[in-house]
Amino acid sequence: MIIGAGHAAAQACVSLRQQGWQGRIVLIGEEPYLPYQRPPLSKKFLQGELDEGRLFVRPATFYEQQNIECHLSSRAIRIDREKRQVETVTGELFDFDRVIIATGAAPRKIYIPGIDAEGVCELRTMRDSLELRARLTAQSKVVIVGAGYIGLEVAATARALGAKVTAIESADRVLSRVTSPEMSRFFQDLHRDKGVDIKLGETVTAFETENGVLTGCRLSNGDVAPATIAVVGIGVAPNVSLAEDAGLPVDNGIVVDEYTRTSDLQIYAIGDCSNHPNALLDCRLRLESVPNALEQAKTVAATICGKDLPYNQIPWFWSDQYEVKLQTAGMCHGYDQVLLRGDQEARKFSASYLDDGVLIAIDAVNSPADFLPAKKLIADKARVDLAKFADLEIPYKDCFK
Ligand code: FAD
Ligand code: NAP
Repeated sequence: MIIGAGHAAAQACVSLRQQGWQGRIVLIGEEPYLPYQRPPLSKKFLQGELDEGRLFVRPATFYEQQNIECHLSSRAIRIDREKRQVETVTGELFDFDRVIIATGAAPRKIYIPGIDAEGVCELRTMRDSLELRARLTAQSKVVIVGAGYIGLEVAATARALGAKVTAIESADRVLSRVTSPEMSRFFQDLHRDKGVDIKLGETVTAFETENGVLTGCRLSNGDVAPATIAVVGIGVAPNVSLAEDAGLPVDNGIVVDEYTRTSDLQIYAIGDCSNHPNALLDCRLRLESVPNALEQAKTVAATICGKDLPYNQIPWFWSDQYEVKLQTAGMCHGYDQVLLRGDQEARKFSASYLDDGVLIAIDAVNSPADFLPAKKLIADKARVDLAKFADLEIPYKDCFK
């Protein structure tokens, strides 16, 4: 049984069948859709350049042909570990031998006056993106609350559609959770250059309304930014209540081992909701990314099929904003040196993060030739050769030993 019908769940279905699982697979998802990809929701789908049908991870025929029972618009509310049953909100009971929890994460909320006003949006689901798309026009005045990945990607899409955009960020720089001050500066300059008004070190204290409709966002400095749309993208919290109520360990995500097993060895957790060990980085992580959801799904399928395939990946991410593709590998924490390579003006460069000369992470802007070898170099704990690194004629992959 798989709870949650998102990206991780879809890959678990695929991998279970590929790896030889012939038993019953039941998929329970609270959204009305088969599993779909979220990345386009803030990018091409929001911009109207991608049809709904192209979002689905697999077509409906896949689930029919692979004999996967899909229960959509169905929310699991309890895992009874003694009876080995899952209960849904409508009172249905499903017996299980094994459960994969793939419940993802939910947007963090802000509780301020006007939060229920028409025009105040969040962005996690296809429905959210369709609603936002229906509102977004060249005449829109959009205020982005939170300049993380969602905020900046929506800002880029809204600008591409001709809307006026203001971004409010409580930290002193954009993307502060995921990258370095150097890269934050690059993205601030990029967005300002594209016409986004970025306000740092500010929060929204109230949504101003007229007859229940959004008219503006009041900021902590007292200013009011006029707005017809506010998009709140201030991070997510993992959906862990099912595991918590079932007495499974939870600590910033459902705690699992390298085989995606919880403390109950027939219950697993994968994707955004899981907190897992990473032997290559020697730490525990909870990652919010598609590559992580896919890799953990492959691991859980292998574990269930009796194969020894511990999760062992260097994390990687991507983001598309305007004509910029950012590709990131490793975790941008604990570095003591940043080396920039390439041409920032031309928006084609990379930032390599080193700890005592060893590569631990990279952010590559329109530079796939730097990004592609970096994952292996990070895993190999490769040491930079500074003389070679300074010579732009030498390919990135040859600058390490
Ligand atoms: P989800 O995809 O969130 O799926 C979980 C599903 O479980 C949801 O459908 C939820 O409704 C359901 N569920 C929860 N609780 C229950 C329950 N009790 N019963 C039944 N069902 C339940 N990542 C990238 O790597 N690159 C990107 O460019 C990128 N862009 C993104 C853009 C947007 C707008 C968003 C929102 C996310 C983006 N991400 C991106 C993040 C990525 O989509 C997530 O990391 C990924 O979807 C995680 O997959 P998941 O299966 O763990 O969770
Ligand atoms: P995020 O990356 O955590 O960014 C949220 C930002 O909002 C942070 O900078 C945060 O600052 C700031 N913030 C918090 N409270 C605020 C407030 N009251 N006012 C103004 N700013 C505030 O999360 P997200 O952008 O909402 O993204 C949600 C999820 O979608 C994440 O899982 C993300 O990884 C995923 N996603 C990924 C991609 C991608 O990989 N390309 C694209 C879109 C979405 P503090 O850190 O200081 O709190």
